[in-house]
Amino acid sequence: MTTPKIEFNLTDSRKQKPSEENLVFGRHFTDHMFIADYVKGTGWQNHRIVPYAPISLDPAAIVFHYGQTVFEGLKAYRAKDDSIRLFRPEENFKRLNRSLDRLCMPQVDEEKAIEGLLELLKVEEEWVPKLEGNSLYIRPFVIATEAFLGVAPATTYQFYIILSPVGSYYEEGIHPVKILVENEFVRAVKGGTGGAKTAGNYASALKAQETATAQGYSQVMWLDGVERKYVEEVGSMNIFFKIDGEVITPAVNGSILEGITRKSIIELLAHWGTPVTERKISMEELAAAHASGKLEEVFGTGTAAVISPVGELNWNGKIMTVNEGKTGALSKKLYDTLTKIQLGDEEDALQWVT
Ligand code: PMP
Repeated sequence: MTTPKIEFNLTDSRKQKPSEENLVFGRHFTDHMFIADYVKGTGWQNHRIVPYAPISLDPAAIVFHYGQTVFEGLKAYRAKDDSIRLFRPEENFKRLNRSLDRLCMPQVDEEKAIEGLLELLKVEEEWVPKLEGNSLYIRPFVIATEAFLGVAPATTYQFYIILSPVGSYYEEGIHPVKILVENEFVRAVKGGTGGAKTAGNYASALKAQETATAQGYSQVMWLDGVERKYVEEVGSMNIFFKIDGEVITPAVNGSILEGITRKSIIELLAHWGTPVTERKISMEELAAAHASGKLEEVFGTGTAAVISPVGELNWNGKIMTVNEGKTGALSKKLYDTLTKIQLGDEEDALQWVT
């Protein structure tokens, strides 16, 4: 296959960049975006970098009605030597293809997608924040554009990459959050779309998140859809427990999103000689570990926060305080190591950075 050429249509009128102090997540967008079009039978074409602007779609486009869309999320970091660094981008495009497959959408060429992203980053280099802790959030997504009200996979799609400068998740350093265990609503079920990064999973999660926020909890902990017994994940993070010296995370089972931070932590801990057990873990087991003083640490993992220590779990009104509500030693060590690798301040022994 010949490499599709990327066409450039660049703007002369660059936007004023927002102040790097107090950057809000996902509110500011850069000057350009990457787009490619797909037509069934022809494949992906018209790879281009164009000014960031609203898009025009037919009101009958399948994406609006039946949610045929998937997305990704990763970050570009500016190192002290001014180089721009990406953390395991190939993993994001592999996951994008797994999500696309689940939603009956066409695969993207992972190498071409990364090439498109790198070209876009060259054009937008000035947008990668300089203040330590800030970064440029990268949002690739694919939408079904065909105008058709029948329930069927579309024959036309568009692939976009947009960029958004974001602030540090932690304004005053890493600190523990409070989590509400959700017993009524579920995020996903085995055989459903939970393993894919698709819009519907996030729309269906809003109701539970709204209740948790109203009660002063930062995120929801999801349980399995059959018995509400086993832990799945937390909000938009995977979850880890340290119980009596053992690190445990729920095994991926089709309903959990397989996080790239999760995968990296499992690999990093193995590299340090601290293996992680991937298995089912029930709320009863957690409560028993808490009661016997063996629940040492709980932390969420994801691109946004990297590591988010959990200081409190509320399960049916039973409050479980973890590690006296403080950040645990393992959580801190993982956070420091991963952020240093991302910023180039520590040797990238596992060769994760592009
Ligand atoms: N679970 C869900 C539901 C998510 O949206 C995310 C964020 N992508 C994660 C877990 C963590 O994934 P990652 O480490 O790749 O950011």
